[in-house]
Amino acid sequence: MQMHVDASTGAERTNLLDMPRPELEAYVSELGGKPFRARQLLNWVYKRGEGRIACMTDLAKDFRAQLAERAEVRAPRIVAVQQSQDGTRKWKLEADASQAFEMVYIPEDDRGTLCISSQVGCALDCSFCSTAQQGFNRNLTTGEIIGQVWLANRELAAAAAEAGAGSELPIVSRLDGGQPTTERAVTNVVFMGMGEPLANFRNVIGAIHILLDDYGFDLSRRRVTLSTSGLVPQIYRLAEEVNVALAVSLHAPDDALRSELVPINRKHPIAELLEACWHYLDERNGRSVTFEYVMLDGVNDAPAQARRLARLLAGRPAKVNLIPFNPFPGTRYRRSPPERIVSFRDELIRRGLIATIRRTRGEDIDAACGQLAGRVIDRTTVRLGGRKMSLIVER
Ligand code: SAH
Repeated sequence: MQMHVDASTGAERTNLLDMPRPELEAYVSELGGKPFRARQLLNWVYKRGEGRIACMTDLAKDFRAQLAERAEVRAPRIVAVQQSQDGTRKWKLEADASQAFEMVYIPEDDRGTLCISSQVGCALDCSFCSTAQQGFNRNLTTGEIIGQVWLANRELAAAAAEAGAGSELPIVSRLDGGQPTTERAVTNVVFMGMGEPLANFRNVIGAIHILLDDYGFDLSRRRVTLSTSGLVPQIYRLAEEVNVALAVSLHAPDDALRSELVPINRKHPIAELLEACWHYLDERNGRSVTFEYVMLDGVNDAPAQARRLARLLAGRPAKVNLIPFNPFPGTRYRRSPPERIVSFRDELIRRGLIATIRRTRGEDIDAACGQLAGRVIDRTTVRLGGRKMSLIVER
């Protein structure tokens, strides 16, 4: 459990966002509360989006006072917000004094997808990913991971309220400081932001439990996707622990090329990785695996490579999602031309696979796949206006 030292009082506070239901129940009982208090708390925090314990009016007064003294709802602090012309929004969030991570909201007609981070930076060093360039700083806590979803729902609700009825912005929202809510802005969550989620296994699993819990965000397992570069032992552990959609960053049809693009392949080569994926599928009905494949001009986009990829996945219920490469400063790669991406997809389809091309979103604000970098926070900007949590729109 994460403690936080309050600068003004010196008191250590427990972050309620760090606790999936069983932990919260244990915590509540430690304080002498009845088990149903934990469900009441979850309801306030996740269904109503309430962050102030004092406002959780149906908690017994004594219990509320005791809780308010020791605990809090502590989501990451917002450092900056950017909005793309296509409606995509990116928030930069504070991890530590000089460290930041990012989350991205992608609105579509029938859903709102939040792309969240699991680590500050990343240790895996994939050659085509800009997050890799900044190195690894630390794992995010469960509270920092689930706090992204909590915060995005509140931010989007506030933006929707401000924009008024009839605006295109919001998918929904009646979620604002204690009002009961029936719908939330975030309907889908993907672990495709900064970091390798399976390298931060415990904290990510805790956050997934809260996403799926009917007393938490109550998302269906089809609406939560975990993307991994291929940490094989952790895929086996994942198969035992939770039921979510799995996305695997394959990116190449042979080991020589994949080891160059995704260095973890030297430790866990393609055959081993695919075994783990089929195991994940076989363990439970209704699971899905999608293979992500970034389209790099002249590197992995030839027709022969499409045929080889199709042979690898033949006869399996696997989907391939082609991601047009998103460039970033200093990269040696270029995006494959659109017609080559289309013929690559068609080749896969001809050979019996399900293949799609991911639409690039938020490119103008560097919010597209592989472009999240977090950058170092300038503390002087953060304190602008005397308010620590000031919203600064960059650019
Ligand atoms: N660490 C996880 C999540 C990473 S981001 C993973 O590796 O799966 C989600 C997807 O974006 C991954 O498939 C990743 O390989 C891809 N990606 C990374 N950099 C990219 C870039 N510059 N352009 C397009 N896709 C990229």
